[in-house]
Order: sequence, then C-alpha cells, then structure tokens
Amino acid sequence: MSKVLLISTGGTITMVREQTSGALVPADLETFKAFMPELFAGSIQVDIQAFDPMIDSSDIGPDSWRRMAEMVYDHYEEYDGFVILHGTDTMSYSASALSFMLENLGKPVVFTGSQLPVGVLRSDARENLLTAIEIAAEQDEEGNAVVPEVAIYFEDRLFRANRTTKRNAEHFSAFNSYNYPALAKAGVHITYQPHLIHYSDPNLPLTLHTEFDTRVAVLKLFPGIQPEVVRSLLRTPGLRGVALETFGAGNAPSAEWLYDELKAAVDRGILIVNKTQCNTGSVEMGLYAVSLNLMRAGVLSGYDITTEALLTKMMLLLGEHPDDLERVRALIGTSLCGEVTVD
Ligand code: ASP
Repeated sequence: MSKVLLISTGGTITMVREQTSGALVPADLETFKAFMPELFAGSIQVDIQAFDPMIDSSDIGPDSWRRMAEMVYDHYEEYDGFVILHGTDTMSYSASALSFMLENLGKPVVFTGSQLPVGVLRSDARENLLTAIEIAAEQDEEGNAVVPEVAIYFEDRLFRANRTTKRNAEHFSAFNSYNYPALAKAGVHITYQPHLIHYSDPNLPLTLHTEFDTRVAVLKLFPGIQPEVVRSLLRTPGLRGVALETFGAGNAPSAEWLYDELKAAVDRGILIVNKTQCNTGSVEMGLYAVSLNLMRAGVLSGYDITTEALLTKMMLLLGEHPDDLERVRALIGTSLCGEVTVD
C-alpha cells in the first residue's frame, strides 16, 4: 500500500464561516477530516500532520516554509510522496521556496488547495485533494516516483511549482504556468509528460536548505516613476536584493538618473535582477537600446523566471551564501531545479 503524508497548513480548503463576522477562517483538523471521509477509504494510506492552528496563506512566510520543508525532510523515508494543503494566495511563493529548499528531491511534493471551502457543496476541494494524493503516490514499474519534484495541482493541471503564478481569484483554474507546459493533465486518466519532468540525480542525497535572507524588494517600474521613489527603495538600509520588474523584453527608461541609481546600488553589493512585467516570454537584455543601461549598470537577467520564484531564490541564495555575492550572481543565471530557461 502506498503511503502519503498530508501536511495541512490551512487556506480556504480548510475553512468555515465564522458566525459573528461572516468571514472565512481555518477550521480545526477534526472538522476538516469530517468533511473528507474519502481520504481514509481509498487504496492509499494517508497520514495527516497539520499546523496548529491552521492559517490563511497571507500569514505564511519563511518560518512556515521551514516548517513545511522540515516535515517533508523528517519523514522523507517513511512516505512515497507528500501533499501540502495551502491557501492559494501565496501558494506559488511557498511552493517555489520548497523547490529550492529540498535539493535532490526524489519524491513528489504536491501543493493543492481550493477556491471554495471543503464544506461547500460546489467546492473544488475534493477533486483537487484526491487527485493530488493520487499523483503523490504514483510510481512507475520500477517503483520510482513519477513526478519527483515540487508541483502544484489545481483544477485539472499539474504544474512545476516554481513556474506558477496565481492568476485568478474567481475561477477554479486559479494557477497558470506561463513559461513552461503542464507536467500532467487530469481527465478520466492522469496523463503525465515525462519529458517535461525534472529528475534529480538519484545518487545524491536529499539536502535541506533553510537559511533565508528576507532583505529583498520588488521594484516595479512604470512610466513617470520618480527618482525619489527609486532612490529611497534602493537606499533602504541593509537591502541585499531587488527584483526589478521591467517592460516587455526587459526594458527600462533610459534616463541617466535611473542608470546612476542602479549602478550605485550594484556597486554597494546589491543583487539586482531584471524580471519582465509580462507573464509570458523572457528578458532579452540588449535587444533594445533601452535595456543597455541595465546591462552596463550590472543588472542581471532573470530570463523567464516568475517573480515568486525569483524572490524566493534570491532569499535562499543570499541566506545560504551571505559572503559570496559572485556565487549568488552566478547561480541566479543558472537553473537550479527547472525554474528558469537560460539560453
Ligand atoms: N485567503 C486564502 C488563503 O490563501 C485564499 C485561498 O486559500 O484560496 O489562505
């Protein structure tokens, strides 16, 4: 019998409506389990561990990422796969973070949640959770995990976690992976795409990374942005890294003051990575003259990475290699576990 560890952090999937305020709040674990008797009636053994209390994903950050990753790491040998129940709002951040924390992962870690609480008749919770468990338990004839990576299963698609973005607050199809195809599609059968799946070297042991440096920021450019705004962000005391959200293929205003501020920040040892504001496509610095200043200032290309993956990758690399900025800069331009297409 396959064994899956279900780690519940909270999110809408676990929520009930509070009598007084009418707002959705996470239920306790027993209430949640009572809504899902199917969990314990199938051919897969499902054990549950939950955050106590379970929380909305807006309250999740590096401490919770550590707890989730440690739960996987501590029970790695006991289970065939792992499912993490999580609110949809920040799921792409957490799932991206875990993909970098769990180096050489050889078993599935599948995040899922739902847009409607499990107790609501039309809820998407049941299908999402039961299919995620099936995917987490799936093995080939040799007993190897079919999807040995951190993934998000939602509605009918399985995506590489660090390629996802929450795209919809209304539809059941809440996530998309704009720059990488789905790893599997669920209909009557679950159809996997093995040529798209990331396989770690089976001879390397699972290695847990838990050091994050959260002194990072997102700077989103817009037409008319003022020097004072850029200056005050880039001169934030202690700042270590910036995801610079640019136009189109990685373009920025060619104003001299912007170049000066970016160059000065890079010279002060701040890691600045160019990430396009477009969902689909890649940064191509040098394609247009308006991105040449960024290159000259020492801004790195983020290629086609998502903001979620870039921020969590920067936090982890800066945390793990606090005194080796050259190494961090080199690793930003490298795919660690399929998060970026580097040409
Ligand atoms: N606010 C909820 C959360 O992220 C939304 C959801 O789960 O869909 O925890």
